[in-house]
Amino acid sequence: MGTIRADEISNIIRQRIGQYKREVKIVNTGTVLQVGDGIVRIYGLDDVMAGELVEFEEGTVGIALNLESKIVGVVLMGDGLMIQERSSVKATGKIAQIPVSESYLGRVVNALAKPIDGRGEISASESRLIESPAPGIISRRSVYEPLQTGLLAIDSMIPIGRGQRELIIGDRQTGKTAVATDTILNQQGQNVICVYVAIGQKASSVAQVVTTLRERGAMEYTIVVSESAASPATLQYLAPYTGTSLAEYFMYRERHTLIIYDDLSKHAQAYRQMSLLLRRAPSREAYPGDVFYLHSRLLERAAKLSSLLGEGSLTALPIVETQAGDVSAYIPTNVISITDGQIFLSADLFNAGIRPAINVGISVSRVGSAAQIKAMKQVAGKLKLDLAQFTELETFTQFASNIDKTTQKKLARGRRLRELLKQSQADPLTVEEQVMTIYTGTSGYLDSLELGQVKQFLTGLRKHLKSNKPEFQEIISSTKTFTEEAESLLQETIQDQMEDFLLNKEEA
Ligand code: ATP
Ligand code: MG
Repeated sequence: MGTIRADEISNIIRQRIGQYKREVKIVNTGTVLQVGDGIVRIYGLDDVMAGELVEFEEGTVGIALNLESKIVGVVLMGDGLMIQERSSVKATGKIAQIPVSESYLGRVVNALAKPIDGRGEISASESRLIESPAPGIISRRSVYEPLQTGLLAIDSMIPIGRGQRELIIGDRQTGKTAVATDTILNQQGQNVICVYVAIGQKASSVAQVVTTLRERGAMEYTIVVSESAASPATLQYLAPYTGTSLAEYFMYRERHTLIIYDDLSKHAQAYRQMSLLLRRAPSREAYPGDVFYLHSRLLERAAKLSSLLGEGSLTALPIVETQAGDVSAYIPTNVISITDGQIFLSADLFNAGIRPAINVGISVSRVGSAAQIKAMKQVAGKLKLDLAQFTELETFTQFASNIDKTTQKKLARGRRLRELLKQSQADPLTVEEQVMTIYTGTSGYLDSLELGQVKQFLTGLRKHLKSNKPEFQEIISSTKTFTEEAESLLQETIQDQMEDFLLNKEEA
């Protein structure tokens, strides 16, 4: 019979206690009460934050949006078909964030910044919150550099500055997306990073946009964020915030960026769907009460940063679709009041063959004219005035039979100016080309031509000027002014071109 030695026993006990190293970790959990339509109601999750990510047992992630006394309403970021009632949910302690890096350029990603273009993983070492506060007043300076869209009608009369928010609004199929994508194409070589956010679009339309951008070499400086009409409302709701975070990453690295939200009507609809399912009280047009905040906190993130912060900029071009031109509906009025102006596209003009179908009379840009170069300001004023007079006269004389000479002249001039503003898709013009085109029109050189010849003449003139008088472009790009020298160079070329043109016509 062995003896029990007290010190042996105490040694063993001491050892055991020494090994006893349990870490205490509090996991904030809850239980699924109800799941359906991408919304989950959870009991528990006591200390969850608004906007915190939660993880379900089967791996789906959701965002906590409704915090009530006992119940938390969560929206899912996946389909969540495998989530079971009474299964448990963990709070992660993290607010939604995405990875960011330079390697995102040229890629197509979803609202979680995961690639969907089949070109492999995207490496990133940093991350950014999807929602971050907009830069304050001290961090900003006023807009002063132009963001050229390459569209004559916009750059001359509704100019956009870097850091501005300009709404593109119009009925369906009026060329809204075309204005936006043309603007991206025109940023080639301008050192502007572009982000195109497609919300609730047909996957085929997005594919079309990506193909055009790739073919024209514009994907090199562009990121596409897409959640198509088939995606859950939650992801459509997140897409523009994700796009903005990606753009901000570059803005805070002293770069110029341009973001397009195509379109915010569908974004608001996705949010309405989520809110109704979360049983939030509906208000006007069944949108929830905070739908204004939905867009204001997004668009406020557009900025021109101060010199201290490196002068980066984020220009936002949100798109909104109207029904039968009704700009007084809820979402259009909201977004009009948040932005610094709007480009109004009209279905009537579009159908009359005036494309881009920009209604200059009711389009405005509240800050952009500060950013126009001097040469453009010199010629654009007359264009605007002539066009305004023409529109008035045209409606006035519509049924008149007896029109005096001066009125006839003004009408003829106006028709040619309207012709001059027409521009086909994906055919952007440089500032120098725009200045010379406007000058040619407003100085009356086109008045002797038939309406149908205007386009052909101008195309020929641009080519002629480029090859025979390259000094013209140099003067404008270096001095930013339409000098007397530039004017006489241009006049000479116009006369040459006019002779050639008339000669060819006689021969033909
Ligand atoms: P949706 O409401 O479907 O989004 P949208 O307003 O974005 O339409 P787009 O898709 O840009 O309109 O254009 C509608 C059609 O008009 C397209 O077929 C496009 O190619 C054509 N289009 C747009 N701009 C021009 C233009 N300047 N010249 C000729 N065709 C154009
Ligand atoms: Mg479109």
